[in-house]
Amino acid sequence: MKKSQILIIVALVILLLALNWMTRNDFAGKEYFGGLPWYGWAGISLFLIVIGAAFAIRDAARARKLLEEPPPVHVDEADQRIYLSKELLEKYDPDGPNYPHPVIVAERCIGCHACVDACPHDVLAIVNGISTPIARDQCMEDTSCQVECPVNPKACIVVNTTKKIMPRKVPRRDASFMTDVPGVYIIGDVSGTPLIKNAANEGAAVVIHIAHELHASNGNGGPPQAQYDVAIIGAGPAGLSGAVMAKRLGLRFIGIEQDTVMSTIVKYPKGKYVFLKPETMEWTGGIRLPGLEEYVEEMIEEMMDEPQRAQAAALLAAERAGTLDDTGRQLLVNARDRYQAYLEIEAGFESPFPDAKKFAEWQLDVSALNERAARAKAPNATDDDRRAALAALLERARLFRDAGKPGLFTFAMWDYARALKLDPTNAEALEAIEDGARRLARAREKFEALLDAEDKSALSELLQKERENTIKETEVGQLDRLRKAAAQRYGERMEAEVESGKMPAERYEALQDARHKVAGDQREVLLNTWFKNMAENGVAINENESCKAVKKATDGDYFNVETVKAGEKVNYTARRVILAIGTAGTPMKLKVPGEALKVKLPDGTEEDRQVQVTRDGKVEDKVKYKLNDPEAYKSKKIIVVGAGNSAIEGAVDLVARRSGDQIEFRPPEETNEVTLLVRSDLKNDLKFGNKIQIYDCIDAGKIKVYFGAAIKEIRDDEVVVVNARNPDDVKATIKNDYVFAMIGGDKPTKFLEAIGIKIG
Ligand SMILES: Cc1cc2nc3c(=O)[nH]c(=O)nc-3n(C[C@H](O)[C@H](O)[C@H](O)COP(=O)(O)OP(=O)(O)OC[C@H]3O[C@@H](n4cnc5c(N)ncnc54)[C@H](O)[C@@H]3O)c2cc1C
Ligand code: SF4
Ligand code: SF4
Repeated sequence: MKKSQILIIVALVILLLALNWMTRNDFAGKEYFGGLPWYGWAGISLFLIVIGAAFAIRDAARARKLLEEPPPVHVDEADQRIYLSKELLEKYDPDGPNYPHPVIVAERCIGCHACVDACPHDVLAIVNGISTPIARDQCMEDTSCQVECPVNPKACIVVNTTKKIMPRKVPRRDASFMTDVPGVYIIGDVSGTPLIKNAANEGAAVVIHIAHELHASNGNGGPPQAQYDVAIIGAGPAGLSGAVMAKRLGLRFIGIEQDTVMSTIVKYPKGKYVFLKPETMEWTGGIRLPGLEEYVEEMIEEMMDEPQRAQAAALLAAERAGTLDDTGRQLLVNARDRYQAYLEIEAGFESPFPDAKKFAEWQLDVSALNERAARAKAPNATDDDRRAALAALLERARLFRDAGKPGLFTFAMWDYARALKLDPTNAEALEAIEDGARRLARAREKFEALLDAEDKSALSELLQKERENTIKETEVGQLDRLRKAAAQRYGERMEAEVESGKMPAERYEALQDARHKVAGDQREVLLNTWFKNMAENGVAINENESCKAVKKATDGDYFNVETVKAGEKVNYTARRVILAIGTAGTPMKLKVPGEALKVKLPDGTEEDRQVQVTRDGKVEDKVKYKLNDPEAYKSKKIIVVGAGNSAIEGAVDLVARRSGDQIEFRPPEETNEVTLLVRSDLKNDLKFGNKIQIYDCIDAGKIKVYFGAAIKEIRDDEVVVVNARNPDDVKATIKNDYVFAMIGGDKPTKFLEAIGIKIG
């Protein structure tokens, strides 16, 4: 029974008691309790018990129904309730209670925080990079965690709810990404299509579409009047991908970014593993993925023998330039064949060992042969040992062939042939064998790097066990599955192409294949690749310039794009406009003198300077609107302005470190002097955990708070704080290095509606 039902019943009993007491009437000879005889009370109690039991039976039946019945077909399109099957519930919510609570489908989660931020009751937290319900019993069923989860299908699902879950309203657009305002396009997160891969793909696609459309309209529309063919607003994955594509297609474009390029990703936690999902979707964005082309080329190099390996880079460059001769082509064909063989090994394609025991026995044979081959490498090895090693290599190759493992067979023969070609008593022969093994190990490492973090660590653990012969029978199946998953990511298509004889001839195909196999990479690696890619393509974006309005011109087929840069209004004219502005919105400014100040460069150490100079060598802003990396601040004097969750979390992170829902204060040499300015009071929707933590910091003297306070002026090394209601009443002048203004902001909806775009 729910708490509310119990409360209703208790209230009813109290009401009845009160009524009876007020209307009591003692009749002679009869014993009355309050105004009722005993059987009256018994009747009421029985009634209440029946009602309670009915509720309990109904709840239990509903919970059972959710578990056992197939998901009902949605009658209402707007209702986003999702029903997990019994199997999925067992997998992701094995001990789940039958009251409403969120379930996280771990494989889908990208750790984007959206559900954690959306939940007002601290039910969810990011643990090991993935959302995790840490307090299911606190769930109040408001379902915003599911609504905000950006992946499709959802990774965060509220189960056992009877509530209708309304979808998030998104701007209307057609198949070519055009909004209700002809000539204005919308892409990426803001259009309701989340994730980096989607954003980048849409960026390239919309620009290609616009290029065609402008080309077609040039014929009848006369010469364009505008300065630019296209204005791209926002430079996240969507906008930057579009800008690179526009540059390649020779469009005249302007890119406007209110913050810095890729600011959403720059603000991810340091070192975050960025998932590039959905894996089944190909990457076609204008910006390249890190390591993809390089990775394929490195693999091809790995697969070549010396001395040709030294020329691999030159051969690949010649291939790109179309100047490769026949010998070079044959070398690359061979290398790609070997790579394919390697992939087959990893995938364990068509294993002849359906039964794990047989497979383990076979593995034992292989390792015995490996051991015999390895004995030849000992410093005291005799000629006999070396001959035995050669024989073992050959025998191992036969074993692979007989087991129907063509990939392994090729590799074993490769090792054997290399050892045979050289004098087996010669140290070089042994080195060649070693080299082969090293090469394979390196290739394997790279291959593993393509898996998701979780699978990757499971795979390397199992491979290690396999190498040490300690793998359990029950683990063989899992290893097989992981190998297959890895190979599928990278090798599936390549295999088909090799079979059809297509792949070696067309390098493009190999790269195409690789495009959708990369599962992700570290934030830093992705950002570096994209910044480099932007520079290589000669793409310039106007950073720190915010677009305020887009208006259709009255005298031609173009738009006026109004922006603000360093407080000045700027106007551009563009024939088409692409809105790629994400969902974070525009942070609210303090609007006080000194807000645009830069951090004063210290006379101090190089380390100090590095904190304060940005990647472009620009001097850092003194006022920031988000705290990305608390660890970058140590021994600084910092003012945090705001009363909501992000301000409170930021202030706490500058003086303490988190471990689960606990905090540990930083040691004195690493902490900061933090002052929190709150205009009136802490916000009502402040998470309970945040409230406790901020008061812990205040009580411990780690954070000083001024309630009812605001900034009047920011100076080079101090800030003037005044009474929020009376700016003439100066409360304090505080020494200061940085100001974090986390006072909310405008969501994109207002901006879009002002342009005339319809939402929902
Ligand atoms: C913590 C976190 C982790 C995430 N992890 C992943 C992940 O692992 N994998 C994944 O695929 N996705 C992840 N996401 C989601 C991903 O970041 C977004 O889907 C992606 O960034 C969307 O790209 P976009 O270009 O549409 O928008 P954004 O990247 O948000 O870019 C929009 C840009 O427009 C600018 N802008 C906004 N308004 C204006 C204006 N008026 N004028 C000028 N410029 C403006 C903004 O400053 C911003 O730079 C994560 C998100 C977060 C918050
Ligand atoms: S957002 Fe609502 S439904 Fe989701 S976990 Fe938090 S309280 Fe529960
Ligand atoms: S919103 Fe979805 S994808 Fe993002 S952390 Fe939560 S469950 Fe994972």
